Amino acid sequence: MSASILTHRSIRIFAAERKLHFYGSEKIFRLALSSAAGAAIAGLPGSARSNNIVQERGADAHASCLVDTTLCIGCRKCEEACNRNNKLPKPELPFSDKTVFRVERRPTDKALTVVNRYFGSPSSDQSLVQQTHVKVQCMHCLDPACVSACIVGALYKTEDGPVLYNADICLGCRYCMIACPFEIPAYEYYNALKPRVKKCEFCANVSEDGKAHPACAAACPVEAIVFGKRGDLMKLARRRIKGRPDRYIPRIYGDSEVGGTSWLYLNGRAQQEIGLLSLPDKSPPRTTEAIQHGIFEYGALPLVLYGALGALLWRNYRLERKEEEEKNAYRMPDPGGKK
Ligand code: SF4
Ligand code: SF4
Ligand code: SF4
Repeated sequence: MSASILTHRSIRIFAAERKLHFYGSEKIFRLALSSAAGAAIAGLPGSARSNNIVQERGADAHASCLVDTTLCIGCRKCEEACNRNNKLPKPELPFSDKTVFRVERRPTDKALTVVNRYFGSPSSDQSLVQQTHVKVQCMHCLDPACVSACIVGALYKTEDGPVLYNADICLGCRYCMIACPFEIPAYEYYNALKPRVKKCEFCANVSEDGKAHPACAAACPVEAIVFGKRGDLMKLARRRIKGRPDRYIPRIYGDSEVGGTSWLYLNGRAQQEIGLLSLPDKSPPRTTEAIQHGIFEYGALPLVLYGALGALLWRNYRLERKEEEEKNAYRMPDPGGKK
């Protein structure tokens, strides 16, 4: 088993532990309450929940990036440009340092994009190149689960595509971190005064016109990242696949994953070999909406969820009390005994 696979697994375990920690017992009840609240919000017109239902209005025109992993040389210029444009803290090691590739990394609150290295050629026509580099950042989903999970609308999708963040109204609940299928949002745990959720915002948050201007794409010296409209980039990706069947696998990552994303990937090898997660086509919000709509259709209110939850908690409480009483009865001294 290669070191890169081991590292990948350890990162996944870390992420799972982080989630388990978050799902600590005292928080399950709060999460359940929030789900019920979310269901209620979903049924209300004009709520924050409605912010995410824009993806079907012209996704072809959405700001988008196409990453061609067969071209990426792992120079990390994109990381550097992202750091500079978003005024992030300088990393301990310079961006020219390639030792960072020894472990597989995920975006953090201090690095909104990272490049990872995987052993093996990027494509079958590049047999002399023995490594593949893959850039990772928020995918700017067409139907983003983070937006759906945010009950106050602190995360929202704009008409032209980017998924942005409003720190002023964020509750710090971090449901977005749990909801994201790509495990992207990071949190400023060490910011004691006002911790924020951090993720790539397509540089729209720092641009003068509030639109996407990805510094990473502009900085890439080999045009491994192309910025444009999603529809145009899909056509470009298909043209490349058709023109070079020896180089590309006939699949665009992000075309359909979780309902489609604004970051698209063109690869020369299987996605699971280069850290791109295998995900279903249906977006998580669509699944939860189907459940919510089912509930509303039959006239039930989210209070039903409270009722079911309350009944469950009451049942568990009664069982625990009964067990406790039985244990105490067993321990009671025999009044007729010598002790
Ligand atoms: S990748 Fe995650 S954080 Fe980014 S838009 Fe999709 S769900 Fe939200
Ligand atoms: S679009 Fe901007 S924030 Fe996103 S990865 Fe590129 S440089 Fe970083
Ligand atoms: S700047 Fe371009 S070539 Fe360099 S690591 Fe980033 S995507 Fe790859």
